[in-house]
Amino acid sequence: MTINPFETAKSQLQQAAETAHLDKDKVEQLKNPDRYVEVAIPLKMDNGSQKIFTGFRSQHNNARGPYKGGIRFHQDVNLDEVRALSFWMSFKNAVVNVPFGGGKGGIIVNPKELSAAELERLSRGYVKKIYPIIGPETDVPAPDVNTTGQIMGWMLDEYQKRSFNSSKATFTGKSLDNGGSQGREEATGFGGVYVFEEVVKSKVVGLAKDASVAIQGFGNVSTFFAQAAEKIGYKIVALSDSKGGIYNPEGLGFEKVLAYKKSSGALKDFPGAKNISNEQLLELPVDVLVPAALENVLTKDNAEKVKAKLIVEMANGPTTPEADIIFAKNGVAVIPDILANSGGVCVSYYEWYQNMKGESWNKEQVLEKLSKQIKLAFADVLEQKNKYNCTFRTAAYVLAAQRIIDKME
Ligand code: GLU
Repeated sequence: MTINPFETAKSQLQQAAETAHLDKDKVEQLKNPDRYVEVAIPLKMDNGSQKIFTGFRSQHNNARGPYKGGIRFHQDVNLDEVRALSFWMSFKNAVVNVPFGGGKGGIIVNPKELSAAELERLSRGYVKKIYPIIGPETDVPAPDVNTTGQIMGWMLDEYQKRSFNSSKATFTGKSLDNGGSQGREEATGFGGVYVFEEVVKSKVVGLAKDASVAIQGFGNVSTFFAQAAEKIGYKIVALSDSKGGIYNPEGLGFEKVLAYKKSSGALKDFPGAKNISNEQLLELPVDVLVPAALENVLTKDNAEKVKAKLIVEMANGPTTPEADIIFAKNGVAVIPDILANSGGVCVSYYEWYQNMKGESWNKEQVLEKLSKQIKLAFADVLEQKNKYNCTFRTAAYVLAAQRIIDKME
């Protein structure tokens, strides 16, 4: 049975609504995105043929500011996924308290099958279809799964030409030489580790200084998460990409893995490690589990087998509501996506702000600000958790929903 992430998102909100007796009418409004569009993008392939790709943009809620959220390029993108992701963005932006609403976009495509020139034409073709509904004060896209600063650059250029608006603030996550912010690349992964450190400090979960960590995913988020976590002493014992993973209970050494993946193109057969599947990674005897790839990986079918005491959701939507119930019953703490991975959009806000004001901040300033803002978000969530004696996820939703509802009034 396929799990619909949009149903997951709505049920997470419903849980918070019941816990904190939120305004019923406003909650019903929040279960429906304001608007979503589906677009057809014709792409001229390098061999002269044409293919039509399908893209989406969902604008969930803008009570707190412009719609804001990434654009994903993936073969499994679909409307309900994009709607769910836009929904999660509204709540994430409210948790970390940046003045944005929630949006998300995507194209159904496996970008690894396109040449660089095709990828550029596809990115520009998408903007050609959605440029009337985005802009620095209406909807501000950014990178997500399989999209990069380079892609944001092509999209921004196309947007500027078509809208006659020269502002760079319509897209964030741009490269540094094109109006991007220092620290944006690292922001999601580092932000996750800042949250993780706060969890440890709060003693909600008892962890040794060299606790073992398994990370699913090998993209931008997991790379910076692993680097930062290893730097403060945690042991990265397992990692995976879309083809499978590697495990060494003594620790892998992240820099060595990175170099190996660069030279061999895969993780498989990394010296000293055992090859494992993505499913096995989730069930390893580790202290901390970090799903940092795609949604719906922790379900009722494997939640009982998870041995970690703490799950830090660096992917969006990795845990289904049934799995959440099992984790709560088994005393597994789950730091929800809308808090754990909010560092990315937080620095996207700094980028947008710098573009709007013509400022340029250095990396130290950015990371210092990020760390403060994330710590505050964690403290705010913990306060709700203690008040309602609920999970971190429900506490984060209560906090965010209240912040959004206040602005809807
Ligand atoms: N795609 C990222 C996320 O899911 C970042 C969004 C943004 O920076 O707007 O949070």
